[in-house]
Amino acid sequence: MAQGEFNLIRRYFAQPALNFKKASVLLGPGDDAAILSIPAGKQLVVSMDTLNESVHFPADADPFLLAQRCLLVNLSDLAAMAAEPLAFTLSISLPEPDENWLEAFSQGLAVVANAYQCPLIGGDTTRGPMSVCIQVHGLVPAGKALLRSGAKSGDAIYVTGELGDAAAALWWLMSDTRLNQRALSRPSEQVLNQAFYQPDARINAGVALRDCASAMLDISDGLASDLRHILRASSTDTNSLGAVLDSRLLPLSDIFRTMVPEQEQIKLALSGGDDYELCVCVPASRETDARAAMAVLGIRFTRVGTVVDCVGIDQAGIQLVDAEGAIKALDWQGYTHFVQGG
Ligand code: ADP
Ligand code: MG
Repeated sequence: MAQGEFNLIRRYFAQPALNFKKASVLLGPGDDAAILSIPAGKQLVVSMDTLNESVHFPADADPFLLAQRCLLVNLSDLAAMAAEPLAFTLSISLPEPDENWLEAFSQGLAVVANAYQCPLIGGDTTRGPMSVCIQVHGLVPAGKALLRSGAKSGDAIYVTGELGDAAAALWWLMSDTRLNQRALSRPSEQVLNQAFYQPDARINAGVALRDCASAMLDISDGLASDLRHILRASSTDTNSLGAVLDSRLLPLSDIFRTMVPEQEQIKLALSGGDDYELCVCVPASRETDARAAMAVLGIRFTRVGTVVDCVGIDQAGIQLVDAEGAIKALDWQGYTHFVQGG
């Protein structure tokens, strides 16, 4: 790599605001590889997410906010496993090294890295179309990670926080022509930016739910779509699971209610992605404890439905109780990907 790029790495990534000390990190950036030691009784949990310009974020995205989103969506995967952050690596590809952009990007990273005590321990810096790939490493007590595969018929289905805000924000932010103006009224830019770029990674919630939940994941593609991952993973050869969701119980924010036309709200809350809230299955015997744990953390925790045996519905089928209390099959999926102007 050219000398100039070594200087960029030193100035923006191999620097104290990002490489702060942490137990278990024996060696950070600067050598051929980093070294981590895994404490006795813990397991290493690893996850990676790539964000590409124009696919996952707009070309003119604010680098300070973008960096936060890149790290937060990765941390959210650790939260969904009930793990705690240990450290992260970063592979970044840039068309032209723009120092102002890098400065803001590294500052954004440092804000989240510090907030979650997750230092940057290494990475790769290359030229190419703009793309950011982060790998997070987390720790969980051995055997205590929460998987998608533990849900049982009768478990209550909960979500943290509120649903749909990020989808509404993305709809606005990604639409160059603001096609969606017809459908959305516009709250402040700041509120939209925050919903999309600064999702909470629910680390504390994940840890607190370790001993209460049967299955958990973070909602990146919409509750309807992501809940199906749990239902499929938790179904067995002899027992297929489905779910009943009550549309009247979905936690919607005031901003969401203001922005999104009423007839679109349930669909967007269930199918819009990027919320990074946790979807949590809780056995009846653990519900009181789970609710109490979330109350202590001050995190909204809403029961939205129940896991059921698949009788009369497809495996992983979801039935929705509508505003009038009628039950119907949910026949649309989460958006598999945002379609510009769609
Ligand atoms: P190598 O040729 O051995 O792969 P690199 O030039 O890619 O070395 O990286 C040199 C050092 O700088 C390594 O320790 C690497 O982890 C670190 N590094 C490179 N890019 C980044 C980055 N974007 N963030 C953090 N550390 C980085
Ligand atoms: Mg390299």
